[in-house]
Amino acid sequence: MSLDFSNRHIGIDGDARQLMLDALGYASLDALMDAAVPAAIRQTAPLRTLPVPATEAQALAELRAIAAENRVRTSLIGQGYYGTVTPAVIQRNVLENPSWYTAYTPYQPEISQGRLEALLNFQTMVSDLTGLHTANASMLDEATAVVEGMLLARRASGSASNVFLVDSDLFAQTRAVLDGRAEALGLELAYLPLADTDPAELPEAFGVFVQYPAASGRIWDPSAVIARVKEQGGLAIVAADLLALTLITSPGELGADVAVGTTQRFGVPMGFGGPHAGYLAVREGLERQMPGRLVGVSKDADGRPAYRLTLQTREQHIRRDKATSNICTAQVLLAVMASMYGVYHGPDGLRRIAERIHRQAVALATHLRGAGYAVAHDAFFDTLEISAPGRAAALAAAAREHDLLLWQVDADTLRLSVDEVTSAAANTGTAADIGPALAEVFGLGAGWATAFEPAFPADLRRASEYMTHPVFHTHRSETSMMRYLKRLADRDYALDRGMIPLGSCTMKLNAATEMAAVTWPEFSGLHPFAPVEDVQGSLILIGMLETWLAELTGYDAVSLQPNAGSQGELAGLLAIRGYHRSRGDLHRTVCLIPSSAHGTNAASAVLAGMRVVVVGTTETGDVDLADLRAKIAEHRDELAALMITYPSTHGVYEHEVMQVTAAVHEAGGQVYIDGANLNALLGYARYGDLGGDVSHLNLHKTFCIPHGGGGPGVGPVAAKAHLAPFLPGHPLAQMHQHPPFDMATGAAGTVEHRGAPVSAAPYGSASILPISWAYARMMGAEGLTDATANAVLAANYVALRLREHYPVLYAGENGLVAHECILDLRPLKEATGIGNDDVAKRLMDYGFHAPTMSFPVAGTLMVEPTESEDLAELERFIQAMIAIRHEADRVAAGEWPADDNPLVNAPHTAESVIAGEWEHPYSRELAVYPFAGARVDKYWPPVRRVDQAYGDRNLVCACPPISEFA
Ligand SMILES: *Cc1c(COP(=O)(O)O)cnc(C)c1O
Repeated sequence: MSLDFSNRHIGIDGDARQLMLDALGYASLDALMDAAVPAAIRQTAPLRTLPVPATEAQALAELRAIAAENRVRTSLIGQGYYGTVTPAVIQRNVLENPSWYTAYTPYQPEISQGRLEALLNFQTMVSDLTGLHTANASMLDEATAVVEGMLLARRASGSASNVFLVDSDLFAQTRAVLDGRAEALGLELAYLPLADTDPAELPEAFGVFVQYPAASGRIWDPSAVIARVKEQGGLAIVAADLLALTLITSPGELGADVAVGTTQRFGVPMGFGGPHAGYLAVREGLERQMPGRLVGVSKDADGRPAYRLTLQTREQHIRRDKATSNICTAQVLLAVMASMYGVYHGPDGLRRIAERIHRQAVALATHLRGAGYAVAHDAFFDTLEISAPGRAAALAAAAREHDLLLWQVDADTLRLSVDEVTSAAANTGTAADIGPALAEVFGLGAGWATAFEPAFPADLRRASEYMTHPVFHTHRSETSMMRYLKRLADRDYALDRGMIPLGSCTMKLNAATEMAAVTWPEFSGLHPFAPVEDVQGSLILIGMLETWLAELTGYDAVSLQPNAGSQGELAGLLAIRGYHRSRGDLHRTVCLIPSSAHGTNAASAVLAGMRVVVVGTTETGDVDLADLRAKIAEHRDELAALMITYPSTHGVYEHEVMQVTAAVHEAGGQVYIDGANLNALLGYARYGDLGGDVSHLNLHKTFCIPHGGGGPGVGPVAAKAHLAPFLPGHPLAQMHQHPPFDMATGAAGTVEHRGAPVSAAPYGSASILPISWAYARMMGAEGLTDATANAVLAANYVALRLREHYPVLYAGENGLVAHECILDLRPLKEATGIGNDDVAKRLMDYGFHAPTMSFPVAGTLMVEPTESEDLAELERFIQAMIAIRHEADRVAAGEWPADDNPLVNAPHTAESVIAGEWEHPYSRELAVYPFAGARVDKYWPPVRRVDQAYGDRNLVCACPPISEFA
């Protein structure tokens, strides 16, 4: 057997494959795929642009060559992105540690206590620093968090006004994102220089937004503006720099209702724009209006404190078009990193870092003023706005000669921001010592001011305490920090322990080679607004990936900007909206969505200014064609789009998909195909050929970006040529013409994306794109096709083996499923009283992560084994499921009482079987070692079953006192 990469990625080897095929009754993988994938949808055109597969060494060498085309200079650009030092103990033990980065979203709290604790630390840190009552567990970035703040204000405000006031001294990317999102919803933005406006003159508004400190660096007291807007029934949203908040008065103390921002500068590299964790915090009383995920404290079956996602758990699936936002995948891994930066430095360390930065800024301002420059503001933290009439471009160019990047606002104005990495006063002689170079560029005298007076008003100096919880005071030594990270990681179940068979989420291998380039400085050290000549390597990589993805999906254009699948949905629907409007079809606002769709679909449609009309599904799980035709007829003139998932969320290749898409087109509508299930299709069929006009893909599912415990993600949006101009652009993008370009000559692309941005950064989470690039490069067209076939083989094998124990819901014509299968546990519940919840929790005792619960059908488990698991692991899972079925039968037979058996008591902690008398009708051994063979490598859940209702009733979203755990 050759050991090219696809054989490392695909877990099933030749012998196993034959055995599985024999069991299913097919002679070959081709025969299986011929039977499973309807002939009508099969792709005929060969894939041309993907090169032949590279070995791991070749791929790394090519990536090195691409990286060498980037040039990392010291960024003083600021504007929301700053140099930061990632503590090595966090880089090695979190960012580069599969125990953290391969974990899934913590929907199963009992086996996610480690990252839930880390996220609770994050919430506590953000809530303390912002002076607000409750913070959530991360947003996608600062600009979209501002939008979420605006939407929260719209929901919670009593004001009838349609106006949202915005301070004009805000970041350009925030303005661009805000403009696009407000326009789609018909909200009116009023930009005003609020620092210089008399609050009494302000128009009535449902909310106000203030950047604090402002984009120009200015620090001013917005409390009078805030008070005025609140008097009139509006809410105040403040985007605050968390590091500045260690020194200046918090938004909460200034009267803000909501604080938002980014935690990038807490140890997360700029990475050419992301990923980073945004944040959002609210005052008391607004908790239930919050978007995104919120971690809360509840208790387990023994009454011990236990963490869980609270309130909004999977809220899109429940509230759909009424959801508070469409956010699903967020930025968990980055939130964990930022929170650990807070844990490692503690409040004193953070304050010291902030003071050192502020000293540099003050020294620089003194010098610049001494040399005759006008520095715009007297009160600032780290950013100076410098007036240089007619000379801004020349000064920026001179600085670049010294490998320093300044931010040019216009012909007469520059900005510069100092950060944790730079050193302006110390004369250390290192590259980070920007003092001598700046002295030369600006013609400053020698010697730096040493006297230091903080440059903000005395009444804005922070007096209140923050981060007082012991966790922020305990782990100062690297030994202690390393052990804390290990302890938390050990509580969690991630792919480094065993399979995570999550339907719809494709938890496949995240190969080490794919991960390698993420931390290379050429990719991680770039500012997202660095000049185009410095970022050539990244643009080449982006161009290649866009081109490959376009061909693989049968589309003409791709944008990698969206930071998650949900954001790709929004971008795609906005493209449809833009297209209709460009043709004068302003009334096309209805979006048809099948009842079985992922909850984000409906939530995204609402955010794109559309009205959701639900289409029924048939008993077999397909879109109900009759109902679809009826709904099309009813809404013919208002039809904007149909949003379907293919293969369906039921894991079936629907034969009628072409009829469905044709019916929508015939009525003048556009077809959005949700591409989260692409793992069942790559190499076999393409959305573009099925009649799709636009799709999003999830690179964190199909293309190997790890889930990170609930993010990051990348949700590229791919479209046909007629929609390409409406894909998300960005005012600060370095690349204006997009591929598909000629891969052989590298000639530039031809399509300009002119839609409003949906992310703060032009290329979204650019620093993790090398992961998907490496996957596609090492698999090649053949390897990707092979992966699909093996994923379908694995799903069908599991379905076959489990069918007699749990009915498999839905199958295609030959009784075959696609890449996942739905096990119906309702008959089991009926017969034995044991529900899917009990099975899911009992799987933990057996050493497994539960499959997806109750989506898309209540009372079921959806299993997606992926191509990466080998037969031994599949068998281990099958045996566990069968053994659990037998346990349930013993309950049904009356051998164990319904309320005291190993299933309803699962999961079992070590303590629960050791401490005290054993009073259950089954043995301790059966409780925790139900499997022979599990003895050595037993995974011990750290808590017993978590009480969900208790946590929602008693909302606690910050670190509980240590005494609670005694
Ligand atoms: C995962 C998923 C989404 C949402 O993607 P996120 O990255 O979590 O926002 C949308 N639709 C389907 C079918 C999915 O499985």
